[in-house]
Amino acid sequence: MTELRARPSRRLIVLGSTGSIGVNALEVVDHLHAQGLAELDVVGLAAGANTALLARQAARFGVEHVAVADGGRTSPLDGIDHVYTGSGAAQELVEAIAREGDLLLGAMVGSAGVPATLTAIDRGCDIALANKETLVAAGELVLPRATRKGVHLLPVDSEHSAIAQCLRSGRTVDEVRRLVLTASGGPFRTWEKQRLFSATPEQALRHPTWNMGRKVTIDSASMMNKALEVIEAHWLFDMPASKIEVIVHPQSLVHGFVEFEDGSVAAQLSPPDMRMPIQYALTWPQRLEGCARSMDWTDLRRMEFEPVDDERFPAVRLAYDVIGRGGTAGAVLNAANEAAVTAFLDHRIPFGLIPRLAREALEAIPVRPVERLEDVLEADRLARAFVADHSALAAGSAAASSARR
Ligand code: NDP
Repeated sequence: MTELRARPSRRLIVLGSTGSIGVNALEVVDHLHAQGLAELDVVGLAAGANTALLARQAARFGVEHVAVADGGRTSPLDGIDHVYTGSGAAQELVEAIAREGDLLLGAMVGSAGVPATLTAIDRGCDIALANKETLVAAGELVLPRATRKGVHLLPVDSEHSAIAQCLRSGRTVDEVRRLVLTASGGPFRTWEKQRLFSATPEQALRHPTWNMGRKVTIDSASMMNKALEVIEAHWLFDMPASKIEVIVHPQSLVHGFVEFEDGSVAAQLSPPDMRMPIQYALTWPQRLEGCARSMDWTDLRRMEFEPVDDERFPAVRLAYDVIGRGGTAGAVLNAANEAAVTAFLDHRIPFGLIPRLAREALEAIPVRPVERLEDVLEADRLARAFVADHSALAAGSAAASSARR
């Protein structure tokens, strides 16, 4: 018998609509509308600086509220009724329009997403979360608030979407022996340590399987992305660090495994296309016909799994250190990494200094409890200042030691 299902219909706000996740998400919305599968009424869009694309998206979906962080109201935005500008623009937009029962897609990059996400939770919105930095920096605030408000945090990250789907095979989280997140290994999976240290931004931006924004692409190359995801999984699934593992799987076909107490393992597989986890988060708990291509089973002829090499990719271990320290440690790791990635992309530090500066920031900045948003913002500020102060010095000594070799 065919089960009759309600067609999902809700208001959607997209923060980071002009980025890789945002653009894919709006494609999914278009697909769902075109197929008559779900009605997602896009009511607000936020971007960093790309006003031209933002204006086109607003026109396409008839959006009357947009936010842009860098620069003011520019001509492409003429004709849009409500334009919020400046660093707090996304949060202002959320304050102005978010209502209980709305869905907010957090697809901004970096800890800049924290205030707007917290505001949306306070308004009673469910959160489809791509912006992992929000959980890394402020998980201690996000989770209790989400629980108090009874809102759902729906993972968009493909690994966490996989874990969430696999967890449905068990009855309770207590039955889980371990979660395993897969990692593609990035463009430097097979590189020697020495060569890796001085990889260029152009090399690091060439990801073998995923086409993503610049910051997350660099995070994938350093495997800091996996460190952020371990912390994200810790918060999302209320799992101790000892039960979260990472395994390198270059084909990116299996996105996550859950091993249960009886030794049974559930895995989620799909082609590497973010539209699949995005759609699942937007239409959850329903599964609707997708626009991503189906699995080609002959792809499975070659599936490799290998342990993470902590010598070459020291970033991953930092996640366990952060979870152990708790408090503001996540905000420090996240902000130090964001600042180091920017310095690397600006050719101010070599690639190998990204995890080193993040570790040094963690060691130097005392951990404080997280009680308010200000605690997170202060830790974020201290970590960025640490990286600014130490990057020139560290880059100088790295250059001197490589000249001696
Ligand atoms: P992009 O760099 O492609 O996009 C970032 C988006 O955030 C853009 O729309 C950008 O606007 C916007 N933005 C930047 N700063 C602000 C701000 N202050 N206020 C409002 N909007 C802002 O990144 P991705 O889409 O690749 O990644 C987004 C998030 O999703 C990251 O946290 C990433 O880790 C996560 N993620 C991404 C995946 C992917 O496949 N891309 C996979 C899993 C997670 P503008 O275009 O104007 O600069």
